[in-house]
Amino acid sequence: MRSDRSESLVTTRRTRRPDRRRLKALRSYTIEEVARTLDIHRNTVRNWIKAGLPVIDSKRPILMLGSDLAEFLLRRRDARRQPCQAGEMFCLKCRKPREPAGRMADFVASSVTSGALVAICPVCEGLMYRRASLARLYVVAGALDVHVTWAQRRIEDTAIPNVNCHQGHEA
Ligand SMILES: [Zn+2]
Repeated sequence: MRSDRSESLVTTRRTRRPDRRRLKALRSYTIEEVARTLDIHRNTVRNWIKAGLPVIDSKRPILMLGSDLAEFLLRRRDARRQPCQAGEMFCLKCRKPREPAGRMADFVASSVTSGALVAICPVCEGLMYRRASLARLYVVAGALDVHVTWAQRRIEDTAIPNVNCHQGHEA
C-alpha cells in the first residue's frame, strides 16, 4: 500500500481520460489501487465517490468494485455527449442535464479565470458539476443564483471531476 510518489507536489493537469478497460469487473479496489490502475490522483477517486461512485460498504479501507467503476466512467463519457442548456448541469446519477435544486449553485473558482459550478440534483439529491470559465459563467449559469467561492488549494482544480457539457448549444 505504499506510494512512492509525493502527493503534495502533484499539480499537473491530466488531459488523458482514465481507461476503464484496465479494470477487472469482479475485483475490488482501494482508492490507492484505483489511482494506480488508472494513473490518476487519489483525490480524483475521492471526488468520484462524492459524485456517486458506489462503494462496497462503510468499512475501512473503502473498496470499490471494478464493474461499478467501469459503469461510472461510462456515465461520465455520456455526460460529455449530452448538451446542457444555460442554467443546466449534468447529474451523473440521473445521467441527464437538469436545473439544480432551488436554482442555486456554487461556483468554486480554482484560478482567476476558471472553476466549476457545483449544485444539488433536485431528483436524486446527488452532486452535479459543470466546469466554466469566469468569462462564460453568466452564459453557462443562465438564471441560476450563483454563489462564488474559492478553492482552498490549487490541487482541487484537478480533483473536480472533469464533466464538460457540450459547449455548442449555449452561446
Ligand atoms: Zn440526479
